Amino acid sequence: MIPTRRELGHCRDCRRLILWTITDLNKRMPVDPEPDPEGNQAVWRDGPRIWRARSLDGRGAPELREWEDRFKPHFATCPARQAQMAIPGLATVTRLDDRRRAQTRTPHP
Ligand SMILES: [Zn+2]
Repeated sequence: MIPTRRELGHCRDCRRLILWTITDLNKRMPVDPEPDPEGNQAVWRDGPRIWRARSLDGRGAPELREWEDRFKPHFATCPARQAQMAIPGLATVTRLDDRRRAQTRTPHP
């Protein structure tokens, strides 16, 4: 099943369309608005504007049911998130920190 346009929201970070779902743990989780065969979330409509998701990854997780579709969690595809994770300077900062830590370490006599 595919959510209607009215059921979709926007990602705060990248402004793309997302569908809010509720997980087994009653947490809100955004997924991409269209089903994806590579997705690891089984998503189904539980009522007007209520979509639920369950992970298909866990051991013993039941296969996709007739009324479910595979969706990808939005955090896996969000370009804003990926940009945050791949800020080139970050690795350098860590390395500088290490160097500084190494310099301030005074050898014991
Ligand atoms: Zn996003």
